[in-house]
Amino acid sequence: MKLFSDYHMHPQGHKHLPYTQSLLQPWADHCREVGIRDFVFTDHDRYFPGVDFDQVQLLQKNNPDLTIGIGIELDNDPVTSPAGRAWVERNWSQLDFVLGSVHYFSGEDKMFDSADQGGQFDRLGVETAYANYLAELDRMISLGHIDGLAHLDLVKIHQYFLPGKDPADVFTPILERIKKEGLSMELSTAGWRKPVGIQYPDVSIIRRAMEIGIPFTIASDAHSHVQTGENFEKLGEIVQELGIQEIAIYQKHQRTMVPLEK
Ligand SMILES: [Zn+2]
Ligand SMILES: [Zn+2]
Repeated sequence: MKLFSDYHMHPQGHKHLPYTQSLLQPWADHCREVGIRDFVFTDHDRYFPGVDFDQVQLLQKNNPDLTIGIGIELDNDPVTSPAGRAWVERNWSQLDFVLGSVHYFSGEDKMFDSADQGGQFDRLGVETAYANYLAELDRMISLGHIDGLAHLDLVKIHQYFLPGKDPADVFTPILERIKKEGLSMELSTAGWRKPVGIQYPDVSIIRRAMEIGIPFTIASDAHSHVQTGENFEKLGEIVQELGIQEIAIYQKHQRTMVPLEK
C-alpha cells in the first residue's frame, strides 16, 4: 500500500529554532522525494515560540504541489505543557492538526521515552508504569484540544510489557474513549528506530481500533528531514495485510478520509 501522508514531524528537533524557509524547505524537498504529498509539522508544544504561521504560508506558496499543514504535538510535560496548551487554545483556528501525547509518568520530571530513562520502569514497576501511562492518556483526552493521539503504546519503548496481557485488551478502554471523542490515532514507524524495534501501536491494538472504527493517520515522528517517510513501505505492508482502506488527513481540524492506492 502506498502511504502518501506524514502527520508527525519535528523541524525544530529538540531545540528552540525559529521557523524560516531554510529550516522548512528541506522537509518539503525530502517529502516530495519520497512520495509524501500531504504532511503536517508537529513540533513539540514547548518550542511554540519558534512556530511561525507566516513562514508556513510562504512555504505552502513556494511548494504548490504539496499539501502542507501546521500542527503541534501537545504533551503532558509537568512544567511546560500548561503554557503549550494555552498557546494551542489561542491559535486553535490557525492550526490544522494537534497531536496529543504522553511522554511523562505523573510525578516524574523526565520523559520516560528518553534513551536513559528505562530505570523509571524498574523504579515504578511495570504494572504501575502502565497504569500511570494509561491514566495520563485518559487525562490528555479529557483536557481536549487535540485531533488525534500519537504513538499510542509508546510505553513499550524500553521493551517493558505487561506479562500475559494482550496489548489490545490493555488499551481497549482508551480506544473506546478515542472513538467516543471523535479522535484519530496514528500508525507510527518511529518505534522501528527505538529499542523496542517495532511500529506503534502493536498490530493487536490496530486490529481492535479497526473493530471500534477509529480513523488512522500515518506518522514518521521525524526529528530530521531525512526521516520523513522512513519505513513507510514496511508500514504499508502492515496496512495492506490488515485491510486498512483509507487514511485520515486534516485541514483546520476537519478530517477527510482518503482511499489508499495499491
Ligand atoms: Zn512524542
Ligand atoms: Zn513527536
